[in-house]
Amino acid sequence: MSRYIVHTFGCQMNAHDSDRMEEVLRAHGWSAADSIEDADLVVLNTCSVREKAEQKLRSEVGKLAPLKSRKNRGLVLAVAGCVAQQEGEKLLARVAHLDLVIGPDNLAELPMLVADQMAGAPPRARTVFDLDAPRFLAAAPEPGAAPVSAFVTTMKGCDERCSFCIVPYTRGPERYRPAAEIIDEVARWVDNGGREVTLLGQTVDSYRDPSLPPPASDDPDESQFPSLLRAIAAGVPGLRRLRYTSPHPRHATASLADAHAEIDILARHVHMPVQSGSDRVLKRMIRRYTRAEYTARVRRLLSTRPDMTISTDIIVGFPGETEQDFQATLDLVRDIGFVGVFGFKYSPRPFTPALKLKDDVSESEKSERLARLFELSEAQTRAHLARLVGTRQVVLVEGPGKTPGTWEGRTERNEIVHVDGRPAEGRALTGELVEVEITQAFKHSLAGLPTTAALSALPKDGGRSRPFRRRRALPLVV
Ligand code: SAM
Repeated sequence: MSRYIVHTFGCQMNAHDSDRMEEVLRAHGWSAADSIEDADLVVLNTCSVREKAEQKLRSEVGKLAPLKSRKNRGLVLAVAGCVAQQEGEKLLARVAHLDLVIGPDNLAELPMLVADQMAGAPPRARTVFDLDAPRFLAAAPEPGAAPVSAFVTTMKGCDERCSFCIVPYTRGPERYRPAAEIIDEVARWVDNGGREVTLLGQTVDSYRDPSLPPPASDDPDESQFPSLLRAIAAGVPGLRRLRYTSPHPRHATASLADAHAEIDILARHVHMPVQSGSDRVLKRMIRRYTRAEYTARVRRLLSTRPDMTISTDIIVGFPGETEQDFQATLDLVRDIGFVGVFGFKYSPRPFTPALKLKDDVSESEKSERLARLFELSEAQTRAHLARLVGTRQVVLVEGPGKTPGTWEGRTERNEIVHVDGRPAEGRALTGELVEVEITQAFKHSLAGLPTTAALSALPKDGGRSRPFRRRRALPLVV
């Protein structure tokens, strides 16, 4: 049997694409290799959102070169994802030992393309967007053994033209997956033991599908995302929690806030990228909202349920960003009270409109601003977590913790909780919603004990063991 390794860089969307690639390969008789040394196929699934991620890929490919030439001449080496889409044939020309370059819309063809390579075909780049008939690879959870938490794709591509962002060029224009397919996939996860789903899309809240109730108005900011959320909640009663990432603030309308107020399985947390707190910079970034508009939208979301939290993405050192602009960003971080911030130094990307602007903030200034941003945001995260000590939180347990006798799960927002399993000895917590008394706060997580009421409600017989991929607190970005 042929064996594969898929190595993932970048965002959750890439992690999700990697899972689908593995499923497609397994459906064609492949199995996972234990190490690169015994793999017949190595796929590097890449990210090109920032230059650093792209450099990482180059060094990885470089490391595989000797393995291919010396140890394993039959090895097929493939690059997938955003760098593949961006570079296409050029990557084949530049990397001598590379066999396949495959774009995000061509993943279903992977087994066939690899078979061609094994049969001696010349190196090949396949990077065609499926504009006319978009394909969405449906997840195939193992019967009865789904992880507690799964991602479900709702759309691909992006129609925004943020001046810094390469995504519209590597993922193409927006195409939406039919709502019926999405609901089916959510139901399939739940039928196989899943409890939580995170809906995925580059601008997940711009979703449209003619089969759903129409948007609330003709306002172009309105979408059918709130209708999709309602349709999932109504159509999959066994679903315990529903999240989504990443929304664009432009579509965070009153209808989205109404959906949060109505749908009790929606998480009390939204990750809403802002990028900057300065109107001057937001305009140059072509974000299509002002700081005041962002603030009003986020405050409306925060008011929908008690204890709602917001996290965000911020870019520092965008061309022309002055110290005053950066101070405006710090001020916004304090004002909104973000509980988590993913901060990035601006990185000029091919094809993007911002390339025309002078990258005039020095590398050392970018690093210094990023450090100041993290100092503030980490203090806010710590204060937020410390406030939760002594409270009771409902934790969805995702699997056993790293320390024997502990379990790991998340609150209704998104805080990671290490649950002391001793009081629950002999009972299976995975997949359960457990009330936990929070006893300790760490830098990025919490610890606690199941309450007496929670213990008596737990099933006594051991639960099934589920695949558990430990996740980071918030969206996974490199
Ligand atoms: N949907 C998100 C939004 O509303 O902008 C975009 C997701 S993007 C894949 C993840 C994050 O990477 C962005 O929010 C942004 O903060 C960061 N990013 C994107 N392009 C960048 C660039 N050229 N330099 C630095 N950071 C960048």
